[in-house]
Amino acid sequence: MIVAFSDLDDTLFQTRRKLPLGMDGLTPATLGRDGQPHSFCTPAQSALLAHFASSGVTLIPVTGRDQAAMARVTLPFTSWRILDHGLTLLRPDGGVDLDWRTYVLTQLEPLQDALADCTAAVTGLAAEHGCRLTRHTAHGTHFMTVFKHPDADATQLEQMQLALEKHVERTYDSGLHVIANANNVSVLPRGLGKSEAVRHLRETQFPHATLTLALGDSLSDLGFMNACDLAITPPGGQLLRTVTAAKLPQR
Ligand SMILES: [Mg+2]
Repeated sequence: MIVAFSDLDDTLFQTRRKLPLGMDGLTPATLGRDGQPHSFCTPAQSALLAHFASSGVTLIPVTGRDQAAMARVTLPFTSWRILDHGLTLLRPDGGVDLDWRTYVLTQLEPLQDALADCTAAVTGLAAEHGCRLTRHTAHGTHFMTVFKHPDADATQLEQMQLALEKHVERTYDSGLHVIANANNVSVLPRGLGKSEAVRHLRETQFPHATLTLALGDSLSDLGFMNACDLAITPPGGQLLRTVTAAKLPQR
């Protein structure tokens, strides 16, 4: 049995804005809140999905999307799904896995004060940098605060990220960490996320998988990519851009 754990946005599909102008052969993969096609698979991404489907590879999405945003993904997923950055597991029948929910709530409980305190501590700074603040919940419990810049201003977001990292590293004894994407900076639990969910599913549902693949584009995907046998990442994604920019000495 082969299992592929895959991030969604910017790995299996992306918005038109991120694709070459006038690219042909796009397949809609998600709907926007207005019900119109929003993200698309390129012919290469469609070929990969078709190959997985025809060769019996079990494909498991590993995404930051919540259940509402996942419902707007029109790709046919039939097995387990990892949502909310790993904090929610959906069973193949679509129901929320209650054992994982209980575990997650136990882990989140001692972090509530730190999350609230950290969010309050940088609220003023977020306003100064023009970032909008959103509290995200899983199972009705605060697990992440996201600072989003409406124009994805890299300088403002970097200032925000540095300040947040400084505060978090100084104050919370590794309970929280900061991740950054193209248009946002987020603070969330360090020891509970995509990689823990992937490890949990590997152990409990797929202990006999002969090969596990991991697909992701972002630094925040690295944890779960390291928990699989082989990792696949798209060119131009945050991961490869970072590695390319690092100019590591060749040994
Ligand atoms: Mg992604």
